[in-house]
Amino acid sequence: MAIREILTVPDPRLKEVSKPVEGGVTDEHRALMDDMLETMYDAPGIGLAAIQVGIPLRIIVMDLAREDEEPLPRYFVNPKILPLTEDKAPYEEGCLSVPDVFEEVERPTECRIKYLDYDGNEVEEVATDLFAVCIQHEMDHLEGTLFIDYLSRLKRERAVAKVKKAQRLKAKENA
Ligand code: ZN
Repeated sequence: MAIREILTVPDPRLKEVSKPVEGGVTDEHRALMDDMLETMYDAPGIGLAAIQVGIPLRIIVMDLAREDEEPLPRYFVNPKILPLTEDKAPYEEGCLSVPDVFEEVERPTECRIKYLDYDGNEVEEVATDLFAVCIQHEMDHLEGTLFIDYLSRLKRERAVAKVKKAQRLKAKENA
């Protein structure tokens, strides 16, 4: 396992549409998921899409366990969202590709999802609460959409400027 570099805005790769995994889940995909999980835990974050480490495949990892709970890694390959409820609720979201920016986004509170798990088994389940927020946020990454794309242009530009400034400071420190 290895920690990979997480892409941050405005990296154009974050706007790419990711491709489906063809031919089932292989050891190569599992190795990628292991790396993604390690990278996510190290960040730390609760969800990560493959494109965030520069791989344009429809793969997501997630762990919503609280700090005082046992880790509960989840893996989603080729996830699909099935009909959603009309009810929406706001939630303050963040993203490892937009570090230190937190803004409210409204999303449906419940969704049904279908995906392949780590072993390639087909799973269908209903996601609610934080799980619903997180899977929709991560699935947006697969379409090249970031949570800041739901904000006003002013807020979005401010968020990107903040990340760029932080990166510049970090580069200076490391120089
Ligand atoms: Zn994100």
